[in-house]
Amino acid sequence: MRIYQCDSCNKVISDPYTVKMKEFRIGIEIGIPLASKKKIKIHLCDDCYKGLHLIGELVPKNPKKEERENNG
Ligand SMILES: [Zn+2]
Repeated sequence: MRIYQCDSCNKVISDPYTVKMKEFRIGIEIGIPLASKKKIKIHLCDDCYKGLHLIGELVPKNPKKEERENNG
C-alpha cells in the first residue's frame, strides 16, 4: 500500500484526499522575470480536507442576483 503524507499537517495517511491546487511560481530567467502557473495535486488527510471545506463554506460565494419582482 502506498503511503502518503498530508501536505498540510504532514501526517502520514494511507488514503488521502487529492486536491488540485494552482501553484504559482515566480522566477528570473536570463534577467527576465517569469511568472508561471502550474496545477499541482496535493494530498490532504481527513481532518485537513474537512477543514478546507469548512473554510470554503465560510467564504462568501458570489451571491446570485435574484431577479426581484417589482412589488412596490
Ligand atoms: Zn492534514
